Amino acid sequence: MTDCLFCKIARKELDSDIVHESDDIMVFRDINPAAPLHVLAVPKEHVASVDELTRDHAGVLSEMLIALSTIAGREGTDGGYRIVTNVGPDAGQSVLHLHFHLLGGRAMAWPPG
Ligand code: AMP
Repeated sequence: MTDCLFCKIARKELDSDIVHESDDIMVFRDINPAAPLHVLAVPKEHVASVDELTRDHAGVLSEMLIALSTIAGREGTDGGYRIVTNVGPDAGQSVLHLHFHLLGGRAMAWPPG
């Protein structure tokens, strides 16, 4: 998708603070961090949200989650961390390209607001 913000970041047409990259995924720091550690993992292929996933995405999904776990370990989240994805307006999804937030470095409340 030419106009999608995260597609542009994945194609490096827009600058981002890249933490990890492979052929299929990109992980970059959130521009407006909600925790000391806040990165976003996205597939390079445009997928709007979890609602568009099929079994064919199993590989890229596991790659994103394993990359986030590795980053959490590397960046010192001894007390734990949270991985979350928002789907649709009620959840507050503001960018319509699948992304997993990794949040860490502080205590978090549950349930989220
Ligand atoms: P969501 O509200 O779940 O769709 O999350 C979108 C996230 O993207 C928010 O946490 C934003 O701060 C973040 N974001 C928006 N634009 C950028 C950008 N150019 N670079 C990095 N993160 C961004």
